[in-house]
Amino acid sequence: MAVSAIVEAARPRRVTVLGSTGSVGCNTVDLIERDHATYVVEALTAQSNVAVLADQARRLRPKLAVVADDSRYKDLKQALSGTGVRVAAGTEALSEAAERPAEWVMAAIVGAAGLAPTLTAVRRGAVVALANKECLVCAGEVMTAEVAKHNATLLPVDSEHNAIYQVFDFERPERIERIILTASGGPFLQLELDAMAAVTPAQAVAHPNWNMGAKISVDSATMMNKGLEVIEAYHLFPVNAGQIEILVHPQSVVHSMVGYCDGSVLAQLGAPDMRTPIAYTLAWPDRIDTPVQRLDLAAIGRLDFEPPDLSRFPALRLAREVLEAGGRAPTIMNAANEIAVRAFLAHEIGFLEIVSVVEQTLERVPEQPLRALDEVHAVDLEARRVAKALILRS
Ligand code: NAD
Ligand code: MG
Repeated sequence: MAVSAIVEAARPRRVTVLGSTGSVGCNTVDLIERDHATYVVEALTAQSNVAVLADQARRLRPKLAVVADDSRYKDLKQALSGTGVRVAAGTEALSEAAERPAEWVMAAIVGAAGLAPTLTAVRRGAVVALANKECLVCAGEVMTAEVAKHNATLLPVDSEHNAIYQVFDFERPERIERIILTASGGPFLQLELDAMAAVTPAQAVAHPNWNMGAKISVDSATMMNKGLEVIEAYHLFPVNAGQIEILVHPQSVVHSMVGYCDGSVLAQLGAPDMRTPIAYTLAWPDRIDTPVQRLDLAAIGRLDFEPPDLSRFPALRLAREVLEAGGRAPTIMNAANEIAVRAFLAHEIGFLEIVSVVEQTLERVPEQPLRALDEVHAVDLEARRVAKALILRS
């Protein structure tokens, strides 16, 4: 029986949300809560936000609630006393949450920190709704090999990849010429390079269309997010790097497109609300109702498109080079970017230095093939160390 049929037959569907207190996590919880009969929660996890985690756990009654920061264990324990929800803390406990027998796991932790628990879910052969693009960027083929080996199913949550997934003819990939990732261009789409040097973290996280976590918001402002997404798309779809295009589309209504050999271009459209792609993965292979605002193209009136500007957004060039280089390069780029974004948010470096720290880290950490998971961890750590040293010196 096909995985989709097995999954559809499982009623109620047991679900786990890794990173339930974040932007994607809260949107996922919102959808799950609308149908208590269909979705039963196995585990919820958070980094340190005990207040939101405990509140979600009281409402959804998971079997297990995990806080990664173990100094918050007592607070969580106290907040959930008398509920029957088991409480655990620490990074190991994240994998314990992913180990629980949920048919569907939302991977919504931000950054490479999400890799280990996501892989735990993959190794159970679960359906993994993947929001955490960084784990696919940093582990690449090592991760997709695990997905294949354990017969797991990866469903993309990232709006662009979810759009492509919906219109991609997986039975005839040879008939596909290109995939077109749309990009909002972020808050600085119109800003000159010298003005970008002075932007603040508050300006960078104020995304025009989407309300997201701080890290991805800064990535959208540098357009590193689109660079990460090119690499994510390369691993999710049977296309080569040259078939992946980027098109700036400031309204974020056309979420992405697939171009076929006969000249047809199929797109998925919708209001910019993550609950649509999340719902697609949650109900897959079925669909469920969502309260998302319906698209009113007459009210919107016009949709704009323009090519990306590689000179003002060098992260796009860098990500292409990194994908071309392969091996450890994407792992290094991702780790250095995580460190640089954190430093920018802490006012330690300027906006334009984010990408320059990433580029310099790539120059300093030797490129080699990436064969195994322990190498991913080692390279990730090394790149973080180099990036931190560069920041200290700046
Ligand atoms: P967020 O910062 O709002 O939430 C991150 C979640 O991960 C929180 O629950 C946090 O507690 C948890 N977390 C953070 N660091 C952790 C750690 N070290 N260990 C364990 N848990 C940790 O982020 P977000 O915007 O929800 O994004 C989550 C992921 O989804 C990212 O990879 C992002 O690129 C991707 N994504 C987000 C959106 C969006 O609309 N927010 C869209 C597409 C893709
Ligand atoms: Mg996206």
